[in-house]
Amino acid sequence: MATVDISRGQGTNVGDGCNGGFPNKNTLGLCQKCHSLETAKDEEERTRLDNIPQCLECGTLGKHIKNNKCGSCSRKETDEATQRNASQAKNAAIIARPGAWTIRNQQPPRATNRGGPEE
Ligand SMILES: [Zn+2]
Ligand SMILES: [Zn+2]
Repeated sequence: MATVDISRGQGTNVGDGCNGGFPNKNTLGLCQKCHSLETAKDEEERTRLDNIPQCLECGTLGKHIKNNKCGSCSRKETDEATQRNASQAKNAAIIARPGAWTIRNQQPPRATNRGGPEE
């Protein structure tokens, strides 16, 4: 094999696996489904495994995977969205700060020394 893309469900032998692309798959070789199918002890088990939904992001199998996405991949997506929002909020704060600074410094500096009734 010339190049090995770990995000692909590839085995060491030609024809192994589904060769599916799983962007969140981080282990070399077959996806979890193909690995389970390869190691299944009989046809009955293969049929059972074949009916378990698979996450198309990382290749993991799970009975309760919904919309082809496992829990950790959906969480990853939520985290990334949260981080994006957080950094956008931070940038907004940085942009807002010079304005706030200008407004504060427009107050006459002597205001605090005057001893007026507002103190
Ligand atoms: Zn596979
Ligand atoms: Zn996943």
